[in-house]
Amino acid sequence: TELSRIRNFSIVAHIDHGKSTLADRLIQLTGGLSEREMKEQVLDSMDIERERGITIKAQTVRLDYTAADGEAYVLNLIDTPGHVDFGYEVSRSMRAVEGSLLVVDASQGVEAQTLANVYQAIDANHEIVPVLNKIDLPAAEPDRVKEQIEDVIGIDASQSVLISAKSGLGVADVLEAIVKRLPAPKGDRDAPLKAALVDSWYDPYLGVVVLVRIHDGVLRKGDRVRMMQTGATYQVDKVGVCRPTRKVDVEELGPGEIGFLTASIKQVRDTRVGDTITHEKRLCAKALPGYKPAQPVVFCGLFPVDSADFEDLRTAIEKLALNDASFSYEVETSAALGFGFRCGFLGLLHLEIIRERLEREYDIDLITTAPSVVYHLHMTDGTMTELHNPADMPDVMKIDRIEEPWIKATILVPDEFLGDVLKLCQERRGVQDTLTYAGSRAMVVYRLPLNEVVFDFYDRLKSATKGYASFDYQMDGYQADALVKMQILVNAEPVDALSMIVHRDRADLRGRAMCEKLKDLIPQHMFQVPIQAAIGGRIIARETIRALRKDVTAKCYGGDVSRKRKLLDKQKAGKKKMRQFGKVDIPQEAFISALKMD
Ligand code: GDP
Ligand code: MG
Repeated sequence: TELSRIRNFSIVAHIDHGKSTLADRLIQLTGGLSEREMKEQVLDSMDIERERGITIKAQTVRLDYTAADGEAYVLNLIDTPGHVDFGYEVSRSMRAVEGSLLVVDASQGVEAQTLANVYQAIDANHEIVPVLNKIDLPAAEPDRVKEQIEDVIGIDASQSVLISAKSGLGVADVLEAIVKRLPAPKGDRDAPLKAALVDSWYDPYLGVVVLVRIHDGVLRKGDRVRMMQTGATYQVDKVGVCRPTRKVDVEELGPGEIGFLTASIKQVRDTRVGDTITHEKRLCAKALPGYKPAQPVVFCGLFPVDSADFEDLRTAIEKLALNDASFSYEVETSAALGFGFRCGFLGLLHLEIIRERLEREYDIDLITTAPSVVYHLHMTDGTMTELHNPADMPDVMKIDRIEEPWIKATILVPDEFLGDVLKLCQERRGVQDTLTYAGSRAMVVYRLPLNEVVFDFYDRLKSATKGYASFDYQMDGYQADALVKMQILVNAEPVDALSMIVHRDRADLRGRAMCEKLKDLIPQHMFQVPIQAAIGGRIIARETIRALRKDVTAKCYGGDVSRKRKLLDKQKAGKKKMRQFGKVDIPQEAFISALKMD
């Protein structure tokens, strides 16, 4: 295809502002999809994504569009994930396209993820077309939102396209704006092949599929290619494009085009996103600037409730990891929980998604240990080690200082809730950076320790603001502080899965809260069970679960046997979801609930 007839773009939006609905409409209007197929949102294909309304993997579709002037165009839409955990994937897909549609819900206005995502588009030098969605709603205020876009983002919004993605109103204008206002890609067909490796995933039929954006040269089936970063070479089996419902083979991909290749690549891990693909026999002079790989920032242990499920869990984790190179895992053994895996995630949502998929798709009951951030331990001998698991904390005498990761968080919130937001951030050891106004909403930027955010910050923020606050963050370096390891002892035995690193000033509060929670979560036993929080040898909090007085079956004494058996069966079923620690049974929920703070 001629360069002047290609337009590559992405859609950036805050969650729920209508990105998927608009994408579906664009697909439908260009004839890519029937009504029935429309029903299934095509771009968000995983179940969990659809339920939560988020997109995880970047996907792409190629559409054919005949413009009002009669010219035929090829439009490539790259879908980008909308959630903060996946900011890295947003940035890399942005670099494969020249323009963005900035979708803003005209009844809501600019939100935190609108900003985070549009800044990524601006960084990638995109031409941006503002699209005001949901103008069918009575609460829509397009003029106010235009003004807000200009004030807060600083781009011209006078030519915004007003639409209702739901009814289809104005969507045809979006297609015209893509063709008229977004630039065509540039590239040299005769130069050596230079293609960006945008994404890769595992397809059960095709094996590893690699999404590429061609910058220069031509990629054909049968070519021998070299990945410039990894040095690996492959013979290309297939070259194709992604249509809305299926992949279609093509003879070649030329400059400006986006498509896929397959080349008998064994694992997704063998491909490096951001790598440059060139011909083995005719190398391009200079690789494209690569991106830093996404680093897991939150770790937790995943253990099967039933230790007999360990091998099934391994198989399931290996399968999931095939498709998600940002997820890391290694075998972990816990005195309390037996064999499991220590896993690394891009953020809490990523963790929840993986955990849910393991339970739902692979039917494995899991115990999730406290999520932990990655600490930097600077040892007295001058070396530095990363601590992924509080249970592995070395002797404190050998540690000079502990550093923890910080984030810079942007929160947008209606004025009336500002006080509550500031209070929450303050409680979590936050340091205020700036406070400005974006229209009628306050925009606060806070620096916070990630450790204080991973548990339940987002939930707390939502409930404190009746759901009106929006939140986004980026990593912001490491900082030393007075951090200590707190252990929880149940019946005088430490439960390693409940150890955590806390700030010394917050330890008492956290320790007390944990003991109180566990007191309610652990059932009574025939003996008294003390629950204690300790730092080193010092007990900082204690609760006691009183001993059970009577045998539960006693009240059935002399009664009918079947009732008695039922009661015992019920107890047995309850036991399955419990773990034994010494002589004490701890129910599975205790591990998760105990770590939530109120
Ligand atoms: P995304 O999270 O940005 O992908 O948002 P979705 O496309 O999933 O839309 C979020 C919600 O807004 C869904 O319930 C849509 O039906 C609804 N929605 C999308 N566009 C419109 C619109 O133009 N008008 C109205 N009233 N609702 C819309
Ligand atoms: Mg969506």
